[in-house]
Amino acid sequence: MSNQLSALLPYNDKLESRNISDIEFVIIHCTELPDIETARVYGEKVHYKSGTGNSGHYYISKSGLVYQWVENDRMAHHVKDHNKNSIGIELDNLGRYPDWHKTNHQIMFDEYPNAQIDALIKLIHTLQKSLPNLKYITGHEDLDRRLIKSENDPSIYIRRKMDPGTMFPWDKVMQQINLINTGILGQ
Ligand SMILES: [Zn+2]
Repeated sequence: MSNQLSALLPYNDKLESRNISDIEFVIIHCTELPDIETARVYGEKVHYKSGTGNSGHYYISKSGLVYQWVENDRMAHHVKDHNKNSIGIELDNLGRYPDWHKTNHQIMFDEYPNAQIDALIKLIHTLQKSLPNLKYITGHEDLDRRLIKSENDPSIYIRRKMDPGTMFPWDKVMQQINLINTGILGQ
């Protein structure tokens, strides 16, 4: 399994290519799944005619291991309408798992360990050295603010996306990186 986690996704080469100078944004996600292995299963699923699916570029485990699943010069499908100019970083975290869209499951409680956040900061520093136009950072929840009917009570609308959520330590991260936070929670 660790070999697989270290490899690019099987459809990496089918994703639309781009120039690395197009990349301006880092978008922070959490997997909302129990572990990275499960995230890999979801990432490998094919959803589009092009033979590709939904994933971030990077995944970071709770212990701080960083895996790259999509090359920087490929457009990954990780956020609606903002894929072209962004890098998606997914943090292993339960989020609202497993009842993502039920009204009684909208509070996130799973913490982001220091090792994971330190690895994220290091990864962002590395990306800044290789991506000349990287300037901004934000959370998935700040770019996708759509509401949907909850599964258990269609009269109640809930957020479609809430990651990385309220447990994510924006203050700590922003103190250690040189990017502008365009989101709401980090300002
Ligand atoms: Zn997300």
